[in-house]
Amino acid sequence: MEINCLMTAEQTQSDSQPARRIHPGSGRRKKHAFNKGRQLDSDALGEVEELLGDAPRRDLLIEYLHKVQDRFGCLHTRHLRALAHWMKLSMAEVFETATFYAHFTIVDDGEAPLPPVTVRVCESLSCMMAGSEDLLERLGALGAEARVLRAPCMGRCDVAPVAEVGHNHVVQADAKKVSNAVRGGHTHAEKPDILTYASYTQGGGYQLLKQFQDGHVSYDELSKTIGDAGLRGLGGAGFPAARKWQFVRAEKGPRMMCINGDEGEPGTFKDKFYLEQDPHRFLEGMLIAAHAVEAERIFIYMRDEYPAIVEMLRDEVRLLESEGIVPEGKVEVRRGAGAYICGEESSLIESVEGKRGLPRHRPPYVAQNGVFGRPTLVHNVETVYWIREIFEKGADWFTSHGRHGRKGLRSFSVSGRVKEPGVKLAPAGITLRELVDEFCGGMADGHELKAYLPGGASGGILPASKADIPLDFDTLQPEGCFIGSAAVIVLSNKDDMREAALNLMKFFEDESCGQCTPCRNGTTMAVRMMQAETWDADTLHDLSEVMMQASICGLGQAAPNPLLSVMKHFPDEVLKQ
Ligand code: SF4
Repeated sequence: MEINCLMTAEQTQSDSQPARRIHPGSGRRKKHAFNKGRQLDSDALGEVEELLGDAPRRDLLIEYLHKVQDRFGCLHTRHLRALAHWMKLSMAEVFETATFYAHFTIVDDGEAPLPPVTVRVCESLSCMMAGSEDLLERLGALGAEARVLRAPCMGRCDVAPVAEVGHNHVVQADAKKVSNAVRGGHTHAEKPDILTYASYTQGGGYQLLKQFQDGHVSYDELSKTIGDAGLRGLGGAGFPAARKWQFVRAEKGPRMMCINGDEGEPGTFKDKFYLEQDPHRFLEGMLIAAHAVEAERIFIYMRDEYPAIVEMLRDEVRLLESEGIVPEGKVEVRRGAGAYICGEESSLIESVEGKRGLPRHRPPYVAQNGVFGRPTLVHNVETVYWIREIFEKGADWFTSHGRHGRKGLRSFSVSGRVKEPGVKLAPAGITLRELVDEFCGGMADGHELKAYLPGGASGGILPASKADIPLDFDTLQPEGCFIGSAAVIVLSNKDDMREAALNLMKFFEDESCGQCTPCRNGTTMAVRMMQAETWDADTLHDLSEVMMQASICGLGQAAPNPLLSVMKHFPDEVLKQ
């Protein structure tokens, strides 16, 4: 039976009668009236209610969409209508959210069912350099066996190219490996082999949290140590962690905390690395930071590309609840849905609230007005990961590391043309040349250093002649670059700089949230111009200037960086006449 979903004037008939539409302006009823397709399927409503329970929460819309998709393989429009009805939301709210996120697949009622397996092939720069285009072409042979899609960075740049079969990452992928995974039904992510709660506590874990909560360690003592160590936001912005605490504490409570585990910057995989090894060090740091600002609730927002980590964190948080370390319900692990922009803190907060991840205009800043309008502390995974170690070993221990006048440690995610890619914990201020030679086994055989990205897709590109600049916050600005999340991608004489810059601009075009014109249209126009045989340098510079000056958020402001870099450093190669 179908009943009306929207209770408009023409739709208030009894359930058993067909809806009749009033002909606008005539006052007469149209003879062959019909409802404009917004019908509620009571079976679908029953399925939604059975799956999701009986107490809808507006902020859980994205979680509900995940649950429905996990159960039915996609989002049928009948389920979206049922969800809107169940949550007492407009259809527009549900649809605009479902369509915003790349990982939701909407299938119209009556449309042919999807192939049983979805394969996503990463096309970001490191994977492109490792042959993802060729892989995509070869996977065409799977035909109806699988739906093959292009996808952005999956955080496996050190083992590129990567394809995701269902939720299973096939690394150093080739067509044979991917086909075997599809045909063998290998679609689940493997659980990481973590340092367990028992082992972590045996090593003194959760003692600092307890001492801080008991008052044996004071806020002043803790924040001074973290401040003296110079711990900065390691998600990319580099804002001093202890100063963030001060700002949030200065606001009237109740306060909130969000962990940014979105890690979508192409080339970045350090958060994943730490979470897969020692998640309780992260969880303890998170709880310490939350206590520092007296946060009532904590949201851990993890990217959907790390499904095994999401599950593992949910398990470990439940364990902490059962151990009495955290009150039940205080910590919620939220699953993103494939939107790079949700790494921007205000977009992340919108997403936590169950909405599209559109960046907010600032001020007010999230420290003043964050989740549910409350002052909110937002920290990256790695930032809080260091808290316990810095406190136990002291600020001097942390600052004793560093090179070329810089202090501290940085976790570089290194990929591209090096012998040993991976996460490299190295002194802040190390140069690219030192990083490659001392930590990565040198350049890959047959490759000569040509260029590198010091900070992922948005951090710009530098030529080999600038491989001796210290890599750290504040050191790369004179070059028009920044270190961001320390995602270093190394390019060689075998790589084409036009192709590299175009790949990055296409990424920004795909990931632009579309809210503001300079970014939405600017990235599209730049891609079009960069696909032309000859680049119009003057117009590309003008376009870049508009994007940098007039875009609302960092995505649009930084999108031209790789383009400007290659025009500046490789003019002979990219500005062909
Ligand atoms: Fe959205 Fe781009 Fe504007 Fe940011 S700059 S708000 S991503 S359109």
